[in-house]
Amino acid sequence: MSVSAAKKFENFSSWFDDLLLKARIVDNRFPVKGFLVYMENGASMLDKIKELLEEELEKTGHKKMYFPLVTSEELFGREAEHIKGFSKEVFVIDQGPGEQKLIIRPTSETIMYPMFKLWIRSHADLPLKVYQSVNVYRCETKATRALYRVREIPWNEAHTVHETPSEAEKQVREALEIYQKVLRKLGISYMIFKRPDFDKFAGAVYSIAFDAWNPDGKVNQVATIHNLGRNFAKAYELEFEKKDGSRGIPYQTCYGFGFSRVLAAVIAQHGDDRGLVLPPVIAPTQVVIIPIPFKGQEKEIYEYASKIKEMTSSKWRTVLDDREDITPGEKFYHWEMLGAPIRIEVGPKEVAESSVTIARRDTLERTKVSLDDLMQKIDELMKSIEENLLEKSQRMMMSLVSDAKTVEEVKKLLKDRRIARIEWCGLTDCAEKLKEEAKGEIRGERYDIAEKPTGNCIVCGKEARFVVYVARAY
Ligand SMILES: [Zn+2]
Repeated sequence: MSVSAAKKFENFSSWFDDLLLKARIVDNRFPVKGFLVYMENGASMLDKIKELLEEELEKTGHKKMYFPLVTSEELFGREAEHIKGFSKEVFVIDQGPGEQKLIIRPTSETIMYPMFKLWIRSHADLPLKVYQSVNVYRCETKATRALYRVREIPWNEAHTVHETPSEAEKQVREALEIYQKVLRKLGISYMIFKRPDFDKFAGAVYSIAFDAWNPDGKVNQVATIHNLGRNFAKAYELEFEKKDGSRGIPYQTCYGFGFSRVLAAVIAQHGDDRGLVLPPVIAPTQVVIIPIPFKGQEKEIYEYASKIKEMTSSKWRTVLDDREDITPGEKFYHWEMLGAPIRIEVGPKEVAESSVTIARRDTLERTKVSLDDLMQKIDELMKSIEENLLEKSQRMMMSLVSDAKTVEEVKKLLKDRRIARIEWCGLTDCAEKLKEEAKGEIRGERYDIAEKPTGNCIVCGKEARFVVYVARAY
């Protein structure tokens, strides 16, 4: 039984929207466009993704803080490129105390850095590494899309300040490792790109981005890392006393991790036509126990199921589905739709043999296991599910990428919901022409692997300087 009439790879949008509502992740019917209501399963998974990330940030010495929601027009306008990049998509509060307009954060550089100026006196105050998990607000002009493109964006942003450019570079690599670690636990696969200059973060020296694949062929940018150089430090007058007593301007980085987009990637990459398939680490329910009633033995079966619940809930988030008004078959479909990684079935046979039947959601395989081995078996299965989801997702991503030698070939690949690898001269004109004709964006050069061009730009025919990837994007 399918969760909706729509199939994931045939009609992704309907499949996704139906599932969000049915699995109680998000209700997208709030009457202000681009603002979502996260229902219990969506809220629970967002929180778990946040915990995974914050744990890694804490381990690497980032300090959690909370900064204000708003900034002033004056502070917002100090870094010229930054205001140019964001001015069209900020929400402004124009009614408040006094004459001053307030700008709601689209990101928090202009809110944090005036405070950094007060806190940083000497090299002893560096590095400064802070983060917050909050909502930011961007008045999207493109069509909004639940979880992917929203106006209220739940995310984590980290901001760091360093004495030297090489320390800032090192910080970029640390951020990469942190994000890779968290995405790996969620089984999400992606490509890491250095964005072309025309697409870097407003005010950055360069930007790196994680683009996750999506069943409809549009890539989903789930995280970005920016080396800010000294652009913001100069605009916000950050200074410190060096070891030799002279004054220096510090170097900065910032990086953001979009919780709702990561959740979208989990749902989109792993889900199937039965519904969600969740990595154990964020599944709201990890183990579901379903009694198979048998006339005359209801009591024994129920007691046995309760005993198993007690055992498994010592380690896993477990639900015993003992509802009497629906059949075991209906319960199977329900929990498959919700993506519970492991289902345990208990009937008269299992009671008699002191065993259980155990089914994994990702492959739907069922096996019988004795009660004594149950906890160990669950451990093994959870690990195997985590690995399988990642492998499957990586294989899928590899299969989506193809080389293209002409704009026409790019166009055809994108139409087939795939990603094109091309050689490019580096000129914005060629990127724009490609976007116009093939309807795809140059996402950048790979940052995780080195690729060197050997031929000519597929748009203008001049010598290529970069190997880049072209995709449609959210
Ligand atoms: Zn060119």
